[in-house]
Amino acid sequence: MHKVVIIGSGCAGWTAALYTARANLQPLVLMGAQPGGLLTTTSIVENFPGFPEGLDGCELMSRMQKQAERFGAKATFGCVEKVNFSKSPFELIVDGEKVEAETVIIATGASHKHLEVPGEELLETKGVTYCATCDGALPIFRNQPLVVVGGGDSACEEALYLTRFGSEIYLVHRRDSLRASKIMAERVHSHKTIKPLWNSVVTEILDVKQDKVTAVRLKNLKSGAESVLDCAGVFIAIGHSPNTTLFKQHVAMDANGFIIPKSGTMTSVPGVFVAGDCADHVYRQAVTAAGMGCAAAIDAERFLAARNE
Ligand code: NAP
Repeated sequence: MHKVVIIGSGCAGWTAALYTARANLQPLVLMGAQPGGLLTTTSIVENFPGFPEGLDGCELMSRMQKQAERFGAKATFGCVEKVNFSKSPFELIVDGEKVEAETVIIATGASHKHLEVPGEELLETKGVTYCATCDGALPIFRNQPLVVVGGGDSACEEALYLTRFGSEIYLVHRRDSLRASKIMAERVHSHKTIKPLWNSVVTEILDVKQDKVTAVRLKNLKSGAESVLDCAGVFIAIGHSPNTTLFKQHVAMDANGFIIPKSGTMTSVPGVFVAGDCADHVYRQAVTAAGMGCAAAIDAERFLAARNE
């Protein structure tokens, strides 16, 4: 039986692992389907304190893993299929095997939201993508017009990254101003390759018949006018949904699936803690996820200490 099992291996998960490892609790980290979490799909992380020149998202996650492992954290590629928090020790089914835990830290993060328009699903990997860093350099996108959807930091980051490859980058946003931070918005506004299309939404991605992206159908929300814009790729960056389906009916969550901590980082189940984007729809930063991972580790350690007193 494990004293602490951490589900997820993003900033929150690895920080929780580091702290629980240093508390001699030998945490087991179940890395899940996307080891390293969402940050591994980003390019340069410029706002993680301590790295004035910025550093690559994958590099940051691999350093966090090494740091946690140095103090005794154990990591496996396991994916959790089922949980039972109604008995102690808690039971997790991981790739068909039973794992028992005295405490669990849920740090499963969030996934990219989908537009849910015709063509999106059928053309995924055929020009529709959710990650410019992963796919932007593909030959199909080189010197071609590309569309980025969204108005937040992610969309701005995707658009700026894609200026290396595309001929024009159309930033399609449903309002007339960006939600992104000032510094990102300024970079986008001053880049001559990026052309914002305000008050506009993508209503369809074409062309399923040709089995590749050739254009998007757009609607201007102010005028109602519809148009077709030729492009070779659609990069969707409209936010994230929490990866919490597995925990429905087991811990309290809000209507959007974000886990609600009850006291500190403890969920509605004593001994089950939560950290990072799966519980945070407000800040959603690498550093806040790491901070919450630290808090969850300290809460788990105190929970175990109080139980053994
Ligand atoms: P976000 O801030 O929630 O922005 C999502 C954007 O997509 C918004 O502009 C939103 O429009 C738009 N949108 C949402 N649903 C849509 C739909 N169905 N159709 C069309 N547009 C839609 O998400 P994010 O950009 O992924 O950022 C998430 C968090 O990570 C933020 O806290 C951000 O600061 C952080 N982040 C930081 C960096 C960085 O610092 N370099 C990079 C990436 C992310 P509205 O504006 O109208 O709501």
